[in-house]
Amino acid sequence: MSNHQKLQVAVIGGGYAGMAAAVTLAERGVPVTVFESAKQLGGRARGVWHDDTQMDNGQHILLGCYHHTLRLIEQVGGNIERDFLRLPLQLTLYNRFELKAARLPAPLHLFSGLLTAQGLSLAQRLSAARFMLAMRRINFTLSHDMTVLDLLRAHNQDKELVRLLWEPLCISALNTPIHKASAQVLLHVLRDSLSGARGDSDMLLPRLNFSMLFPERAAEYVRQRGGTVLTSCGVEAIVPQDDGIELVTAQGAMRFSHVICAASPTTAARLFRAVPQLAPIAEQIETIPFQPIYTVYLQYPAMVRLPHSMFGFDRCFTQWLFDKGQIAGQHGLIAAVISAEGLHQELEHEQLAQKVAQELREQLDITAAPLWHRVIAEKRATFSCEPNLHRPAHITPLASVLLAGDYTAGDYPATLEGAVMSGLCCAGEIIPPEQPRTK
Ligand SMILES: Cc1cc2nc3c(=O)[nH]c(=O)nc-3n(C[C@H](O)[C@H](O)[C@H](O)COP(=O)(O)OP(=O)(O)OC[C@H]3O[C@@H](n4cnc5c(N)ncnc54)[C@H](O)[C@@H]3O)c2cc1C
Repeated sequence: MSNHQKLQVAVIGGGYAGMAAAVTLAERGVPVTVFESAKQLGGRARGVWHDDTQMDNGQHILLGCYHHTLRLIEQVGGNIERDFLRLPLQLTLYNRFELKAARLPAPLHLFSGLLTAQGLSLAQRLSAARFMLAMRRINFTLSHDMTVLDLLRAHNQDKELVRLLWEPLCISALNTPIHKASAQVLLHVLRDSLSGARGDSDMLLPRLNFSMLFPERAAEYVRQRGGTVLTSCGVEAIVPQDDGIELVTAQGAMRFSHVICAASPTTAARLFRAVPQLAPIAEQIETIPFQPIYTVYLQYPAMVRLPHSMFGFDRCFTQWLFDKGQIAGQHGLIAAVISAEGLHQELEHEQLAQKVAQELREQLDITAAPLWHRVIAEKRATFSCEPNLHRPAHITPLASVLLAGDYTAGDYPATLEGAVMSGLCCAGEIIPPEQPRTK
């Protein structure tokens, strides 16, 4: 009899963290049950429909260095080259700035990109390259954390260089304004994306919606291996027992050997608060600040096409634009993304959509009016990635209760890769990864 037969694992939450854990356990033959409170899987990376148009709750980008996420997508039947549009690293602010990684081995691809960036003076380009060299010299590790803005100032990055290069990069990577964002976490992202193989800095734009891309395929994978994935089945309480854990749902109570709580931070805090041994973790979670992401979808007539599949605006409300026609064949559908806190939060959705349409008209000369628009405001999209944030560990004082999610301890900001890695880590606590056999 295998030791796994004594295990019965529950995963609370069918987002990327929970489904990563479930796939890993199912692969190893562990009986696993996923509880998801929503009707659909995916959590903060999920498909959304507007009549017949398929969208996401927000435009997501993966980086080539998201090795764990990309491997899992393939494990459950995806195909990275088919499911994504792959773009070599490029940062374009329309008519103002352009950095393109060269077709050279890393890290030369980045340095030549920095040195040939358009829209900066020679002195600014050299200054940006010197900054990256200095970060490489310290192995992307600071002796103490600080804000991104303080780090950039300490390395003489001038205001324009910050506005055109570092600020857009920081906001898109950390979803946190540079005067609040953790320099150390940004350096982790720069280390993994810009300092590894050339493909690690590639940007991958999904052609499928984010529920289909991984969580739905993962659910099928789990079911085929004897596991269970329940949607519209929220967990209401975690009750420790002498020989395991009981989960209470509206459909009744069920007993498990282990529980991985991969629910949103708000839910995790609520569930943990009721269990004395876990209450201190609930308190810790409740201190974590959050940042919003707004996505404005505008459906134009099909002939409207943007100059690139993805680019940004300088000094506008709209930060990034994605042409879903070029990315996924959805012609005329434009996604405008506004990350992190800002003045846009003061506008009504209708006003915000009008503002974005006006910017598209003024900047790109798009004279057609949108046929429809939809604003999706994720007010607690990610945790605010600030210096020295105390993120909760994966293990808890109860050996049978583990905690996963993009906000748990790790090197990364709130990303799909961070979420997936947390799920893998929790699964690994229950069944350690197999070691290669020695002869
Ligand atoms: C608009 C937007 C854009 C983003 N862009 C990017 C990007 O470009 N690149 C990137 O890498 N990341 C991006 N992110 C971040 C990324 O989406 C998240 O880091 C990731 O999806 C978090 O996954 P998770 O599994 O940790 O949490 P969640 O996705 O929040 O999953 C938690 C799940 O638990 C469920 N749940 C809650 N309560 C219960 C309960 N009581 N019982 C059972 N289930 C419950 C929820 O319904 C949810 O499905 C973006 C996020 C947003 C919102």
